Amino acid sequence: MEYVKISGTDIRCSRIGLGCWAIGGWLWGGSDERESIDTILSALGRGINLVDTAAIYGFGRSEEIVGKALAEHGRRDKVVIATKAGLDWTTGKVYRNSARDRIIQEVEDSLERLRTDYIDIYQIHWPDFDTPVEEAAEAMNDLYKSGKIRAIGVSNYSVGQMDAFRRIAPLHTSQPPYNIFERAIECDVFPYCDSNGITMLLYGAICRGLLSGRMKGDTKFEGDDIRKADPKFKEPRFGEYLKAVGKLDDYARRKYGKRVIHLAIRWMLDRAPGHITLWGARRPDQLDPIPELTGWSLDKDDFEAIDKILAETIKEPVGPEFMAPPEHRPGV
Ligand code: NAP
Repeated sequence: MEYVKISGTDIRCSRIGLGCWAIGGWLWGGSDERESIDTILSALGRGINLVDTAAIYGFGRSEEIVGKALAEHGRRDKVVIATKAGLDWTTGKVYRNSARDRIIQEVEDSLERLRTDYIDIYQIHWPDFDTPVEEAAEAMNDLYKSGKIRAIGVSNYSVGQMDAFRRIAPLHTSQPPYNIFERAIECDVFPYCDSNGITMLLYGAICRGLLSGRMKGDTKFEGDDIRKADPKFKEPRFGEYLKAVGKLDDYARRKYGKRVIHLAIRWMLDRAPGHITLWGARRPDQLDPIPELTGWSLDKDDFEAIDKILAETIKEPVGPEFMAPPEHRPGV
């Protein structure tokens, strides 16, 4: 496992972090508590020390499960907990809310669910267009100064929003979407973070399972699974993306004796040196590819070959924008 320090802190993290959204069940067709705890323990046993969750994942459920797993693990000090605030569900609908009072309440609720008295990386989940960025930044800075959080992060923020935030508070991390298929940050957020010493926690490493190699044309998703609404998983795009996955798999096999899932995660690690890749898993066996990720790396020729495969197979690429919560509160 490779490790990196979060800029401006002494927090040392594995370059692969376990994403715990699916573990909360909500928008992933449910989850099993025992299997989820075992997945977290398995990740920790394999050298991953960063666990990324959020208050909204399962409306507190994911954080509760992380708290239970850490209690079983017994070494809170060996784990870096990243969680998020700023999505409200108190009216029954999910909406963005980074108002000061909400953040101050959320941190207490998260600490209780996580069974801890500090959070390592505390992130604003989505920019709230109804609250000044400065208000959220000030609240986060107060939590940082109080020692309740060890690093300040944002997620899904634009460069302009990060700039405004940094005029009020230090910003240690930023969490945008990024993977072989979803590259929009390459023209703005990525270079901004690189040149301003902000560590990125890049989410969606295997594009919600698409780059795992397990998807087939007839793969079905159950219950509230978010992939039912994902434009990449709808024809005719789904067929094109699957074709790209097949070609990427052939490439990985021929050149490195690996599979597409290894290529997808190696691509993240090599494309964004110094940053962190979040990989969502909900069963311990989904982390079995880890040992195959080390001892090789991708070079310029590989990046070009991968881009060529994408250009040849995907006619109308689409990003993860469908996941964004509504920009304004109900009634605003
Ligand atoms: P992801 O990592 O691209 O995909 C995760 C899904 O892929 C898993 O839930 C699992 O789903 C499948 N999978 C994982 N390993 C596999 C394997 N070895 N073989 C086959 N399938 C496998 O997507 P993500 O979970 O959306 O993103 C990762 C993390 O980033 C999240 O958990 C969360 O912590 C964070 N995130 C943050 C935001 C934000 O707004 N800040 C948004 C999205 C995600 P199935 O088994 O059901 O197929």
